[in-house]
Amino acid sequence: MNVSVVLFTSDLRLHDHRPLRAALESAPQVVPLFVRDPAVDRAGFAAPNRLAFLADCLADLDAGLRDRGGRLVVRHGDTAAEVCAVAREADADEVHTAAGCSGFARGREQRLRRALESDGRRLYVHDGVVTVLPAGEVTPGGSDHFALFTPYYRRWSAEPPRSPVAAPRAVPVPHGVRSDEVPARDAVEGVSDGLAVGGESEGRRRLGAWMSRHVDAYEDRHDDLAGDLTSRLSPYLHFGAVSATELVHRARTRGGPGAEAFVRQVCWRDFHHQVLNARPRSATRDYRPRHDRWRHGQRAEADLRAWKEGRTGYPVVDAAMRQLAHEGWMHNRARLVAASFLTKTLYLDWRTGARHFLDLLVDGDVADNQLNWQWVAGTGTDSRPNRVLNPVLQAKKYDPVGAYVRRWVPELADLEPPLIHEPWKLTAAERASRGYPDPTVALADGLARFRRARGLD
Ligand code: FAD
Repeated sequence: MNVSVVLFTSDLRLHDHRPLRAALESAPQVVPLFVRDPAVDRAGFAAPNRLAFLADCLADLDAGLRDRGGRLVVRHGDTAAEVCAVAREADADEVHTAAGCSGFARGREQRLRRALESDGRRLYVHDGVVTVLPAGEVTPGGSDHFALFTPYYRRWSAEPPRSPVAAPRAVPVPHGVRSDEVPARDAVEGVSDGLAVGGESEGRRRLGAWMSRHVDAYEDRHDDLAGDLTSRLSPYLHFGAVSATELVHRARTRGGPGAEAFVRQVCWRDFHHQVLNARPRSATRDYRPRHDRWRHGQRAEADLRAWKEGRTGYPVVDAAMRQLAHEGWMHNRARLVAASFLTKTLYLDWRTGARHFLDLLVDGDVADNQLNWQWVAGTGTDSRPNRVLNPVLQAKKYDPVGAYVRRWVPELADLEPPLIHEPWKLTAAERASRGYPDPTVALADGLARFRRARGLD
């Protein structure tokens, strides 16, 4: 066999890429292919920030392949049809790709397999490319997945880590395979001003800086909202520009409590992927129904709007929502506080919040977004489903001098704690002059409503 095809999906990198390695071992030439499939847009997964980041990733992948004597082939259209067309053009017998965990990815894989087989070609699906451990590889007795994080983490940690695969030195690509233009970031409208630059080169640069300078402080500082001392690698992981396996490998090689706390957090990503893999419907349906009758109607709509716009009157929540709009990214602690506020204090359906996050987050991911939302809403895997985060206490603890709020809520920038976290304690005249809203709901009322709804009182 002379040619094989590598279909890139959520794995836009050259380092630690097993499908590419396998394709290069089975044929002297490969066609590295990315299909921009409108089905992704129809399924609601495309959003300006992610499309812009994707454009960066594809341009960088193309550049990396060109450095190795090859190039990226990009096609627009239905994945199965385009892969078959490319395989025919290149006279390739095999297609290699990474296993996905979502219902969407698995449906796409099945259609692709059928289409290729009816053409007399074979699809090879490689596990453990998107996640560290393949989803479903470890299971507890009597179930097809782990429903709680801690036992999963214990089991996951006991698995011998796979060594990352080196990037190939050369990628020979046959002539004559047509490519559409690699999409340009500039062509995407509605992108957040502060969006990060995408691509494997940038991801690897950040990974190196993170491992050498910041990971040791992770255990103590990861919740510091203003310090911003987490890795910010999530978008690179979401697009596969950085390999989760390599990340864990490097952190474990470095060792120490900071590195292990970081590895534990990366394990959450695998955890959610194995839940979604076993329960694809948990992307939209309650994983553990609590018989919620979420609020509807005009008042609920107005509360949702205020939350999205960062105008709830709770400074840390508003700072979080404004960071999301400006950067297409939000600190994990801020995500927890903002999501708890929506689902518990405002008692609004987690799906509405998850949708808004997916519309903006550059790392917006079906497994991580939907299942974290469910975790916070108490319909997911949290063993304490009715905990409610108090945004004032959270702000005092994780933004003690108010620097995070000051950064994102200029109306309050001249205030100090405790007022910066509780501006409703200002006089009515002072509040009016700032143009900052009064609280949408009193925390005690929100809590009482939630407890009633869940039948806790
Ligand atoms: P770090 O703290 O440096 O952690 C390293 C990596 O571990 C992250 O990049 C991420 O891949 C993984 N990780 C960390 N925490 C979690 C977690 N709770 N669940 C799953 N993986 C985790 N993460 C996404 O990647 N995509 C999402 O769409 C997403 N939506 C979220 C929605 C809500 C409501 C909440 C509470 C969390 C969500 N997260 C999501 C998880 C987490 O907030 C982000 O992964 C993290 O903030 C990214 O920043 P970082 O790369 O600096 O993380």
